[in-house]
Amino acid sequence: MTNMIDLRSDTVTQPTPAMRAAMMAAPLGDDVFGDDPTVNALQEKLADMLGFEGALFMPTGTQSNFCGILAHCQRGDEYIVGQQAHTYRWEGGGAAVLGSVQPQPLDHAPDGSLPLDAIAAAIKPDDAHYARTRLLALENTIGGKLLPFGYVQSATALAKKHGLNTHLDGARLFNGAVAQAETAGTAPLVEARRIASQFDSVSVCFSKGLGTPAGSALCGSKDFLYRAHRIRKMAGGGMRQVGFLAGAAIHALDHHIDRLAEDHARARRLAAAFDDVAGATVDPVHSNIVFVDLSGPAKAKADGFIDHLKAHGVLALGLYRLRFVTHHDVTDADIDRAVAVIRAYFAA
Ligand SMILES: *Cc1c(COP(=O)(O)O)cnc(C)c1O
Repeated sequence: MTNMIDLRSDTVTQPTPAMRAAMMAAPLGDDVFGDDPTVNALQEKLADMLGFEGALFMPTGTQSNFCGILAHCQRGDEYIVGQQAHTYRWEGGGAAVLGSVQPQPLDHAPDGSLPLDAIAAAIKPDDAHYARTRLLALENTIGGKLLPFGYVQSATALAKKHGLNTHLDGARLFNGAVAQAETAGTAPLVEARRIASQFDSVSVCFSKGLGTPAGSALCGSKDFLYRAHRIRKMAGGGMRQVGFLAGAAIHALDHHIDRLAEDHARARRLAAAFDDVAGATVDPVHSNIVFVDLSGPAKAKADGFIDHLKAHGVLALGLYRLRFVTHHDVTDADIDRAVAVIRAYFAA
């Protein structure tokens, strides 16, 4: 698939030569004994960056969210979460299946937020009829959208007022931070820390826009991570000489955060290809994900579209609601080509 422009996901990246070199050079040890110096360095580095007592390296973001939810909640507790949130919809129901923690899903507002009055109404009184509401889980970015920071502050403050803990699925936290920094005129790290500071725990993926082959991390307090560490062991996430992957993540934190702005600019250019397509609706593009809705007046044209894209070397996901994701391995020239392929289809 050498000539394919793969816009299905930001998980399809290949590690760069410099990242591979960092991986090969990483000092290793058995991380189940806590002996892997590169894992330890990564955990300290990320915790420092985001302002937490510690961090725990995880094989996947799914496991990281799972350990986070179970470290916050006991059997018979519940977490408030969005209908479209990864932690509810896209993780096999793990918290419920394996943890006996019940989700309380809520509909999203168009900007991806969970309305404050809906959150307040979903918090159960202390009554034997109800599961105990323990946690509010948000996601940022969500569907590529940056949650307004004022909203994040209000929602987490509301949760705290009711005695709930707060967890952020920040799989793409750094995309959000880069987008927020652009508007605030600050540095991405300042915004990443600002967002993270509102939560008791944050899960971050290295394998998305940051471009590593695998790996995520869960950040929180020492006590919280002590519980999460046991759950990670139960889930089979105790890995050995995993500094190979932690080395990739350290490299990504050092070199791949600021460049996310390029992915965002390319996503905006790609979205503009649909400007003149009658009946196509494009969601506001805040970061590296473009959603295009062709279910309305453009539906007749939608049926052959994804095949046309593929035949011309462009991979995307969906049919009537299409998703395009930019990432490290997509160049400006790739975007030019993709835009031309899209325009040619709708012009015909
Ligand atoms: C990708 C992703 C995860 C974790 O996915 P894994 O494939 O398990 O690493 C979690 N949340 C969001 C929002 C994601 O996009």
